[in-house]
Amino acid sequence: RAVFERIEAVDGKVGAFLTLDREGAMEQAAAADRRLAGGDGGPLTGIPLGIKDLMCTKGLRTTCASKILENFIPPYDATVVTRLKAAGAVIVGKLNMDEFAMGSTTEHSGFQVTRNPWNLDRIPGGSSGGSAAAVAADMCLGALGSDTGGSIRQPASHCGVAGIKPTYGRVSRFGLVAFASSLDQIGPLGKTVTDCAIMLDAIAGHDPKDSTSVPEPVPAFADIDGDGLGEVTIGIPKEYTSAQGLDPQVGAAVEQAVKTIESLGARCIEVSLPHTDHAVAAYYVIAPSEASSNLARYDGVKYGFRDKAQTDLLQMYRSTRSQGFGPEVQRRIILGTYALSAGYYDAYYGKASQVRTLIKNDFETAFASCDAVVSPVAPTPAYGIGETLDDPLAMYLSDVFTLSANLAGIPGISVPCGFSDDGMPIGLQIMGRHFNEAALFKIARQLE
Ligand code: GLN
Repeated sequence: RAVFERIEAVDGKVGAFLTLDREGAMEQAAAADRRLAGGDGGPLTGIPLGIKDLMCTKGLRTTCASKILENFIPPYDATVVTRLKAAGAVIVGKLNMDEFAMGSTTEHSGFQVTRNPWNLDRIPGGSSGGSAAAVAADMCLGALGSDTGGSIRQPASHCGVAGIKPTYGRVSRFGLVAFASSLDQIGPLGKTVTDCAIMLDAIAGHDPKDSTSVPEPVPAFADIDGDGLGEVTIGIPKEYTSAQGLDPQVGAAVEQAVKTIESLGARCIEVSLPHTDHAVAAYYVIAPSEASSNLARYDGVKYGFRDKAQTDLLQMYRSTRSQGFGPEVQRRIILGTYALSAGYYDAYYGKASQVRTLIKNDFETAFASCDAVVSPVAPTPAYGIGETLDDPLAMYLSDVFTLSANLAGIPGISVPCGFSDDGMPIGLQIMGRHFNEAALFKIARQLE
């Protein structure tokens, strides 16, 4: 009841939720009460959570913030939702995002703009901007987001909360509406690093319904103690500290966090990720290519919006997709279709895949001499609403620090590390080896 009161009081200004499920939440809460009374609760029992609106929820509208799925009601739950419910969590509702997770600002939603609770004139980041804003404004205690190129970490950083993108394959993607299948990964956003660990404990692990989920054992992340960093070596990539467009206030906050890490006993060394400069170009070929293929299913025939006025099949496809998809999604489909078209595959998708391997190799070389790599999350604190609306390239370039982890498949966490002079939160990113989320939690917990 308290979170619904809070939502009523503030979400008119923030715009984080697309759909609320008061009735379902009250039922789940009553069931949680019964479980707790029977002494059968876990750490998530009765905890109100929000879900980014691209994870399927049985009987509850799932739109991907797109007009093309405006009235789509899934007949099943995504595995992550099944697992949260089994843990006794209460699902409050579905959270706004950039349409199909394409964007870094949550202005590219087909329905509404989400605002940053720290300053309503600023973006909350994206694409999981609804998730980050809802947690920051206490409209739920935690949320799930998805991260294809930074969409958990960057909004977490802009809204002053913690968020982790797990290793590719750590969390099942069954029931996650696909954007770029080789990059997408679900993860939690929370008020604290420990809250993220508790949520990841509930959702991680192999799922026979997702053949890319990995049967690796999952350590109890919530139990990782944060006592001292004596055995830990941290790598600081020289390409990141000298990155173009890095706001000096972000640089200073990250430097301060590195000093704190050092004072806790960690050894800090310089490392090199020489192909960093090519990450944005490689990502913005690979992600739109996969998206153009994944989004081919929205044809007005099987589900979602259809322009019923059309009588000719091809005209119906064209009109349905022109009306149903927003401008950013159409831009990605055009880019991806072009890059995959006959005669261009080797020059674009093939070449980008080779660059992707070089970026992955850079991390492997770096991790031979350190346990984790630290960097900024975003080059600047949250900027003004509307600032990059007419300049997609500027928005793409702001993903420079986050894309590499998705291209390499490694885990990355964003943890608050300071504020700009005008009071906007700044996050620190910590990236680690495949399936070593434990190292990220250990380090990040010390910085809270
Ligand atoms: N901002 C990036 C994009 O627009 C990443 C989005 C994401 O991680 N879903 O593609």
